[in-house]
Amino acid sequence: MADRRFSRGGPVAPTLDSEIAYLKGAGPAIAQRLRALDLHCVRDLLFHLPLRYEDRRRHTPLAHLRPDEEALVRGRIVAAEVRIAGRRTLRVVLDDGSGGLLLRFFHFNEAQRQAFAVGRWVQAYGTVRAGPGGPEMVHPQYRIADAAEVLQPDADLTPVYPLTTGITQSRLRALIDRALEIAATDADLLTPLPGVDGPATLEALRIIHHPSTAADAEALLAHTHPAQRRLAREELLAHQLGMRLLRAHLKSRPAPVIRRPQAAIAELLGVLPFAPTAAQRRVLDEVAQDLASSRPMLRLVQGDVGSGKTVIAAAALLAAYRDGLQAVLVAPTELLAEQHLRTLTAWFAPLGIAPLFLSQRVKKRERAHVIAALAAQRPAIAVGTHALLQEGVDYARLALTVVDEQHRFGVQQRLALRDKAGHLAPHQLIMSATPIPRTLAQTIYADLDVSVIDELPPGRTPVTTVVLSNARRDEVVMRIGEACRQGRQAYWVCTLIEQSEELNAEAAAATAARLREELPQLRIGLVHGRMRPEEKDAQMRAFKEGATQLLVATTVIEVGVDVPNASIMVIDNAERLGLAQLHQLRGRVGRGAGQSQCVLLYQSPLGEMARARLETLRATTDGFAIAQRDLELRGPGELLGRRQTGEIGMRLADPVRDAALLADLQRLADDWLIHHPALAQRLIRRWVGDPERYAQV
Ligand code: ADP
Ligand code: MG
Repeated sequence: MADRRFSRGGPVAPTLDSEIAYLKGAGPAIAQRLRALDLHCVRDLLFHLPLRYEDRRRHTPLAHLRPDEEALVRGRIVAAEVRIAGRRTLRVVLDDGSGGLLLRFFHFNEAQRQAFAVGRWVQAYGTVRAGPGGPEMVHPQYRIADAAEVLQPDADLTPVYPLTTGITQSRLRALIDRALEIAATDADLLTPLPGVDGPATLEALRIIHHPSTAADAEALLAHTHPAQRRLAREELLAHQLGMRLLRAHLKSRPAPVIRRPQAAIAELLGVLPFAPTAAQRRVLDEVAQDLASSRPMLRLVQGDVGSGKTVIAAAALLAAYRDGLQAVLVAPTELLAEQHLRTLTAWFAPLGIAPLFLSQRVKKRERAHVIAALAAQRPAIAVGTHALLQEGVDYARLALTVVDEQHRFGVQQRLALRDKAGHLAPHQLIMSATPIPRTLAQTIYADLDVSVIDELPPGRTPVTTVVLSNARRDEVVMRIGEACRQGRQAYWVCTLIEQSEELNAEAAAATAARLREELPQLRIGLVHGRMRPEEKDAQMRAFKEGATQLLVATTVIEVGVDVPNASIMVIDNAERLGLAQLHQLRGRVGRGAGQSQCVLLYQSPLGEMARARLETLRATTDGFAIAQRDLELRGPGELLGRRQTGEIGMRLADPVRDAALLADLQRLADDWLIHHPALAQRLIRRWVGDPERYAQV
């Protein structure tokens, strides 16, 4: 990569676009670690927002320390010793004239030990605990000096940022401060934005990183500070602009008109073993209208797990086929693709249509056959994985792409599909089982029209959910054994320990081993993310066919797999998962006619938020209600700078909390695209990333 520090004239000052490695105090190793926080260039540092603030603006007299409160203190060292009895501990006693404080360190080196010399001064910041002999702090942050005057409190509140391994708060603070300095030289951040009021961008960022009053900090934590409102508006506007451009580009080419889609829908409904729900009917009509137009359809179909999205996909595929065109259904995994193939093959058989199938696993001869069929000027329906999008697979008449379980598919994949259609833009149907409230959908997918299947097929018995402490695990194991002996099947889900598939695989293997000991008569399978895809599929298949009765799994089973006979799910350490994920997991059971159970095991003690999440799940099975609750729980009062999920990709705005701003911003976005197109590009760049990503589409 070119060294961006140097232009032909010599070293140049870093700009907001420079890589972090070129900042003073950074370097390649630090930059590498910061990538884990999604921090790449200087600009990213500006938008890495504090989780909270610490007040180090005054020293608390030692006599006034209260347990469980955080405090900045200053005192003279009156004793320092290493205790060997029990755990090796460095104990430092401070005195400030008003009272005393004991500092305790378990990890320390010789230099640190020596620095705590009696008579010197320490400034420390930490949480106060009530010890046997008075107040204590364990591993506080500290500075040591020979004179008290050197140790002064901070002028502003101190930001506390989300961290990653190998990066300290002070390092990150210094880098962010440097980024703020660089920002001050960036003319772009000073440009007034028509229609967006409040403190200017740079000023707003400064306030967020360094509020100077407790009132500011409080308002920031409550998300009511004008600086935040300003930036949230900017960010939402940038997203609206980006999505509008994306949509405009996608719509700039005509789509093949699909004639008589309603006839195809009627044909499909004629062969289905059930009648569509009213919600399915409505969405079928919406899709039919889109297909019959020469404007490319860009439609997201949202429906809870089990709401019957496949029917919509099948009807659209059939419509294209019946009009002599080609259509593909792409699934995120081999297993899901095969499941779709089975379903569609069964439904289409009476109509004399056999879908093609393509995945990594398809053998050479069969692959060649499929590729030839798609390259020919003949109607076709193909089901498969992203193998359908790869180079070498060309379509003569691609008119429609259906993408299932959208959250595993980015914009890039959708673009790859579009490019398969030559000069025409194929219609796109995207199916998502992640229910999101409509306001949120409009923000995240402003480039898509949204249809909602808000009704489940009749005759389903909702899953009953119980929340149990881990202390009752034995009882649960016994009941699972009992149920499996009676012919039922169960999942035992092990949750993420860390972001390490390795560790999770180990944990799942250990759980399986333990369960095999506890339930020797059961046939127990195991599936986790470290297995090769063939192994994974073999395990899933064995479970599906009933060869195994209990399947121990990591969260890899989350997406769309259908085993109707599985009617019990145990989720270990359920408190670790978010609501949406728990809901997705639970959706794996309750697919048959009988009553299904979900057991959420938790590790005590349960935090307030985790309790609220588990209680929500116990109380309802409605995915939209759960999604709404999820956003409420994560919404107001949430940690200030926490990034939303990658799905939403917002730094600061919360589309639910800030929903009231949206209508106004949508109008503003339209206005900007007409009157300030260049500014629009700059704002997209500031908040969303490279506008070329949109320009290229
Ligand atoms: P999802 O929305 O999760 O993809 P599916 O399309 O897999 O849901 O449908 C779940 C199950 O419900 C399937 O077995 C399907 O055949 C069945 N199904 C779909 N629509 C109906 C309906 N209207 N009446 C009865 N069963 C239905
Ligand atoms: Mg599905």
